[in-house]
Amino acid sequence: MRAELVCVGTELLLGETLNTNAQYLGQRLAHLGIDIYHQTVVGDNLQRACEVTARALERSDLVLMTGGLGPTMDDVTREVIAAVTGRALRRDPEVAGALAAQLKARGLRVSETQLRQALLPEGAEALPNPFGTAPGIWVEHEGRVICALPGPPTELREMFESQVEPRLRRRLPPGAPVLYRRILKVCGLPEAEVEDRVADLIAGQTDPTIAPYARSGEIHLRLATKAPDPETAAARFDPLEEEIRRRLGHHLFGRDDDTLAGVIGRILVERGLTLAAAESCTGGLLGARITDVPGSSAYFLLSAVTYSNEAKVRVLGVPRPVLERHGAVSEPVALAMAEGARRVVGADIGIGITGIAGPGGGTPAKPVGTVYVGLSWQHGQRCRRLNLRGSRADIRNRTVTYALALLLEMLQS
Ligand code: AMP
Ligand code: MG
Repeated sequence: MRAELVCVGTELLLGETLNTNAQYLGQRLAHLGIDIYHQTVVGDNLQRACEVTARALERSDLVLMTGGLGPTMDDVTREVIAAVTGRALRRDPEVAGALAAQLKARGLRVSETQLRQALLPEGAEALPNPFGTAPGIWVEHEGRVICALPGPPTELREMFESQVEPRLRRRLPPGAPVLYRRILKVCGLPEAEVEDRVADLIAGQTDPTIAPYARSGEIHLRLATKAPDPETAAARFDPLEEEIRRRLGHHLFGRDDDTLAGVIGRILVERGLTLAAAESCTGGLLGARITDVPGSSAYFLLSAVTYSNEAKVRVLGVPRPVLERHGAVSEPVALAMAEGARRVVGADIGIGITGIAGPGGGTPAKPVGTVYVGLSWQHGQRCRRLNLRGSRADIRNRTVTYALALLLEMLQS
């Protein structure tokens, strides 16, 4: 079955609303094994929406529409479906009755405008909307299906899962293969290096397919295969994952829902180790990432945001002469911060982060994006200078990822 998505809404075109419905529906359809070949976003305009929907109906077995089902004049989806299928719009008495009862129960007036939501193209089925007023629409037309769902994501998701998915499953051949994915997560290596190490696998890919993509300091490799069941998919993924793991070693830190902070947390718990952090340019983002993990209180003791030199001296005990000689953004200061954080709370491992997130404050020797991450533990210390690019937000977020990658590397060595 070939599906196509038509998202109706001027707010989507203007970038005021992110098209999360397209992301959600793309994932659900892929999982059902339904091929999705086109997505279109069109504004709240009857003629243009008719054009793209008519085109979609020509080339696709399933046209899924979102948005434009509300009660006002700019909600055109009902009219569009009626026009492209050549059907008249009629008020459905049952839908109108349910709508009126619902409005009265909420103390709202039953107006003609509201009752527009009870209009259905002839021969269409209304899909009840338990979380809102506008029902969805399901029309079977010349062997094809047009299905329209309301724009608000909570309404759309509930209706898709409870009503649309079961209808779609009935139309799929029994035992039809569905798309399975496994995401392998890599850190601590540049993207180009990761690609080099698996280049021949990517070039020679057939099934499963392999696609790399970078995500704020991590590299993800997405394996995908169409299979009749999860076991068959896993049997195809396992040998490929093993080969990739052989090439990337400990840099491959997890898969699917694993996070860097979560994997580190598991190791710390296993070994009974504790962690403390001192942050400057990341302003607490490292602490936030670490404490995103449920149960992190078992090993995470402190994140001190020591933004000023004075705080670095007084809270962490960074020696003033070290600060003056090397500057706040330097290896000795990052290490002294790590050491200080560790000592203040008696943690096993300390992390110190100091850098220039920009956009101002860079110098030729230390341009924006220069960050030092220091690690300190009972038997040693380690520091890395990062030379990051991008916006302030990029630099801060990537710093956190690299700091965690450095910590993981130290725990694994
Ligand atoms: P509508 O059904 O067109 O009246 O849309 C109602 C609301 O749903 C809009 O104001 C948006 O906030 C939201 N919405 C509509 N389309 C989408 C979409 N494709 N992705 C995410 N939110 C959407
Ligand atoms: Mg709208």
